[in-house]
Amino acid sequence: MSKRDYYEVLGVEKSASPDEIKKAYRKLARKYHPDVNKDDPKAADKFKEAKEAYETLTNPQKKAHYDQFGHTDPNQGFGGGGADFGGFGDIFDMFFGGGGRRNPNAPRQGADLQYSMTLEFEEAVFGKETDIFIPKEEECNTCHGSGAKPGTSPETCSHCKGSGQLNVEQNTPFGRVVNRRVCHYCSGTGKEIKEKCRTCQGSGKVNKQAKIHIKVPAGIDEGQQIRIAGKGEPGVNGGPPGDLYVVFHIQPHEFFERHGDDIHCEMPLTYAQAALGDEIEVPTLHGKVKIKIPAGTQTGTNFRLRGKGVPNVRGYGQGDQHVTVKVVTPKNLTEKQKDLLREFAQISGTHPEEQHENFFAKVKRAFKGD
Ligand SMILES: [Zn+2]
Ligand SMILES: [Zn+2]
Repeated sequence: MSKRDYYEVLGVEKSASPDEIKKAYRKLARKYHPDVNKDDPKAADKFKEAKEAYETLTNPQKKAHYDQFGHTDPNQGFGGGGADFGGFGDIFDMFFGGGGRRNPNAPRQGADLQYSMTLEFEEAVFGKETDIFIPKEEECNTCHGSGAKPGTSPETCSHCKGSGQLNVEQNTPFGRVVNRRVCHYCSGTGKEIKEKCRTCQGSGKVNKQAKIHIKVPAGIDEGQQIRIAGKGEPGVNGGPPGDLYVVFHIQPHEFFERHGDDIHCEMPLTYAQAALGDEIEVPTLHGKVKIKIPAGTQTGTNFRLRGKGVPNVRGYGQGDQHVTVKVVTPKNLTEKQKDLLREFAQISGTHPEEQHENFFAKVKRAFKGD
């Protein structure tokens, strides 16, 4: 099943602002809402598609993740991503002015979590599998999240009658005003626990270390992240859990430098190697490779080793390794070496002008402008 690009679904540019995204979605939601399109079964799909795109592109983390990986996700597979139809009420409240009173008993999705992981240079290149431990609130096993002692159950809050909100009357210079406030007896949950669960002291949650298996995809780069669906904080009132985002930081390498999927490195050459030519061995991430240095190679010359770079994290092939040769001027010469160099200089002429006559002539011509 191939999914359409979220930006395409909403008909917005990749650079669209959250407001533009919202506007575009609002238009589509009105057009395709199933309540308005009872005779068109395709409208429901269109609506669902738009809703999913909207939800992804207005969540900064999900958007960053989507911009990076698109619909492919190496760590998906926990059944995430399916947009549901549960939120009609919310949408209409939001768009058509439904007052926005939230039902405290409505299922809510748990919060997303973020975890930072530092990788060795090679680990980022080749990927790895590892377990991480994150401190995490989990549903209490004793009361199954209700917060009430086993055998009892939470009762409707007698102060707010379960609405989670109280009317507070206030005297102001303009007369008596009624404000709605979060019920402080039940903290807005609408429930009152007479006998608290001893394991969680009535919160319904316990702190645990969650062990999570992470597959670091080969080719991950600095600052990129993966999403692990459903491994965030647990949902409230039976809502789905949030997601876990793992953000990667990569340690530098002393020899290799990474630019996207390409690797850059510098190799020293002696003057003799550069002048006479040679075959040198170059380390790559995939083992040693031989390069032929042609006679007369200048310092700064680049050689490309195709496919010796980093595998693309989205599976689009593999980068290259770029080798820049640097001719090293010899130091601490012996008397014999000096003699030989003097002799060499005598034969070739001491002044660089003589050696590179053509080169200098070209430079002169360039200055004259003809
Ligand atoms: Zn409990
Ligand atoms: Zn209450």
